[in-house]
Amino acid sequence: MTARREIWDMSAETMSRDRLERLQLVRLRRCYRRVNRRVPFYRHRFSEHADCPKNIETLGDLHHLPFTTKEDILSHPTDHFLAISPERILRFHATSGTTGHPLVMAYSSRDIDLWADLVARVLASAGVRATDIIQNAYSYGLFSGGLGYHYGAEKLGVAVIPISSGNTRRQIQFLLNQKATVICATSSYLSVIAEVAEEAHIDCKDAPLRIAVIGGEPCSEGLRMQLEDRLSLRIADTFGLTEIIGPGVSMECSERNGLHINEDHFIAEVVDPETGRVLPEGETGELVLSSVTKDAMPLLRYRTGDLTFLDRTACECGRTTARMGRVIGRRDDMLVVRGVNVFPGQIEHVLAETSGVTTNFEVVPRARTLVVRVVSTEPIIDEKNRSQLESKLLGRMHSALGLRLDIELVPPATLKRNEGKASRIARDSEATSTC
Ligand SMILES: [Zn+2]
Repeated sequence: MTARREIWDMSAETMSRDRLERLQLVRLRRCYRRVNRRVPFYRHRFSEHADCPKNIETLGDLHHLPFTTKEDILSHPTDHFLAISPERILRFHATSGTTGHPLVMAYSSRDIDLWADLVARVLASAGVRATDIIQNAYSYGLFSGGLGYHYGAEKLGVAVIPISSGNTRRQIQFLLNQKATVICATSSYLSVIAEVAEEAHIDCKDAPLRIAVIGGEPCSEGLRMQLEDRLSLRIADTFGLTEIIGPGVSMECSERNGLHINEDHFIAEVVDPETGRVLPEGETGELVLSSVTKDAMPLLRYRTGDLTFLDRTACECGRTTARMGRVIGRRDDMLVVRGVNVFPGQIEHVLAETSGVTTNFEVVPRARTLVVRVVSTEPIIDEKNRSQLESKLLGRMHSALGLRLDIELVPPATLKRNEGKASRIARDSEATSTC
């Protein structure tokens, strides 16, 4: 059983399943009534949809509501989604727009307070204590990572270094000189920090860092293990998205058997990405979330695009909330090559376990195949070593993915290092998502 200090809100995170579901029903019912009354988008959408119940009687009634999609948000002005008067908006954040245009979301004062509390849950669950010092290397600004972690850390009573992302040499100096014990960053940026430190012959094992809190993008288990070793720390995975609130939706506990969803505020379903059918517990599909306590812009049945599964079995940590598996990839990033589904995370996993290459790569879809451009660790590589390394990667990719891909080894400066979220698929002229 996890020590009590790792659970920030004991009553919310460990309430009985029965009580939690009663609370979810009350909150869903209230949210449904509220959006029907106040949110132009939902009033119109629900009136058009014959299957919509008049009132929510059970949690199962949620399944009869239509989905809300990223395209719905993009194709309507922000105020069509507002459940509060515009004067009550305290802040805006936006998605990074890695898969298209950014989505802009509004927050009220109540949302900001709730958000800080939920991020405090995340940090406590990762093992962060009031005596720690957090270096927050998520980007500050429109992206919800920077300010989300900042206010969560302050709520927990932890000192924060609001360094934001970028300027990696300075990041490393701060880690060493200010003795940060926790770093918050995307896994892609942690890789960059490890690489830059190694290039400068700085041993991160000398820094007092002990925890990294990652999120914002999927991270393969291979990359996690490699980074834990290179940086000599423990990595806690978290999940969140700006449309729902930002970081604070779910987090790993010390058991590392999935991410606990803060279900008192977010109701989770997993659906078949093609048909939209709700899948049974344990089956992998697309995560759908309803932010039933959100004040400014609550969303019902929002399709996150992230692929995972749900697990409601008991967790040793004492939390009673459902867990979601670590995200295996985004629906948009799935490539189909000769009938086989491929996610960039599978490629990352193989690279993380192969010496001589970095985990910085780019996938270029071509007719009936994929070209994987992989950055080598060495700036110059002779022909013999290149061909040995490429054929080793080819074999490993084949056994991990069941496919023969084309490998192209490139020197370090060829691909940009990712200081935020990594974008792995080169959607250039010939690129299509299906080969
Ligand atoms: Zn747990």
